[in-house]
Amino acid sequence: VSTLSARSRPRPTDQGEVRRHNAALVLVTVVDDGPLSRAQVAAATGLTRATVGSIVDDLIGAGLVAEQGTRSATGVGRPGTDLVLRGDGGAGIGLEINVDGLSCVVVDLAGGVRHRAVLVGDLRGRRAASVLRSAARLNDEAMAAAHNADLPVLGLGVAAPGLVDLGEQVLRLAPNLGWHDVAVIDRMRRYAVHAWPDRVALDNEANLAALGELWSGGHDRNASFVMVHGDVGVGAGVVLDGALYRGSRGFGGELGHLTVATDGPECRCGARGCLEQMAGLDRILRTAGIEAADEDDPTAALLAALARGDATAVDAVADAGRVLGVGVAAMVNLFDVDTVVLGGVFAPLQPWLEVPLREVLERRVLSAPWAPMRVTASGLGRDAAAIGAARLALRALLDDPLAPEAATA
Ligand SMILES: [Zn+2]
Repeated sequence: VSTLSARSRPRPTDQGEVRRHNAALVLVTVVDDGPLSRAQVAAATGLTRATVGSIVDDLIGAGLVAEQGTRSATGVGRPGTDLVLRGDGGAGIGLEINVDGLSCVVVDLAGGVRHRAVLVGDLRGRRAASVLRSAARLNDEAMAAAHNADLPVLGLGVAAPGLVDLGEQVLRLAPNLGWHDVAVIDRMRRYAVHAWPDRVALDNEANLAALGELWSGGHDRNASFVMVHGDVGVGAGVVLDGALYRGSRGFGGELGHLTVATDGPECRCGARGCLEQMAGLDRILRTAGIEAADEDDPTAALLAALARGDATAVDAVADAGRVLGVGVAAMVNLFDVDTVVLGGVFAPLQPWLEVPLREVLERRVLSAPWAPMRVTASGLGRDAAAIGAARLALRALLDDPLAPEAATA
């Protein structure tokens, strides 16, 4: 994503701007294709070796890039030095607010997860103030963990389960939480103990899960996929040619509110027969005969039932897989993505979801006979949105590493 933005950004004319632009280009090349020698960076970016050398010195000085060993590709001549991204140059914090709990991760610049904390519990019916107070506490713990590991915190990303107004940084609607117009960032900041980094961003959880998957899921730079993020609610992040497609106002990808049965059950959004009422976690648990109120971790109870081959649980997940297939088929027919990535709670359910989902895709996707689909579980598991949020916070730095406020060392 940033590769595209750094490489396609109009060339600035101001001298300092040119340098910052080139620094982003150099850094993103090392991130995406490293380890690389200075000469290889020059070849890949089209910059002169002198320019690359001077920018690399600045990036090393800023603690973002390190030199790694020596090597000689041909075995003759002077060995070169490889440039790598420095994981310990800084970290981003990613916090996910979901219907069934909170999770928080610290991710270093190289993508390593350094700290992880989860609070499981149904948040429906809880006041926003009390949830955001817990979220702020998780964030404070993560800041302390980063501090203890000597990692400067460069940014914070927050994932929320609903429509996020990106300009105003307000959660406009989270139907399952019953929240509307909540200034999540401002309110969390009020409860914070530690001072926050400058870079703070709120975004939709499925979008962040898709970004996390794009950056850390081992995909091609130009990948096209739909990330289906399942939980009580169901969202989707659409990645086309290596870029997240958000829609004109950032509200796209609401797969959970795609109608799959016009006279189906009423949804929290006020409509009827929405996909998440038929394939979301609540429905799966109910059909599987698991009483969510009786369990500390209903998802763990479901997975245990599936693992021991409980037929009711297996059928419940298969039903959800078929409904999901109807919704995903619509997205594939519209966007021609070649891969479906199952994220959130759907990631661990993949062994039981995939076959029924595939059967429906093969029947309902027009191009199926000529364009086989890949269905995979996100390797990021249930943390995809939190990791995407942390990486988003870091990505701003990677996109403009020599910005005056970016100094980390
Ligand atoms: Zn709905």
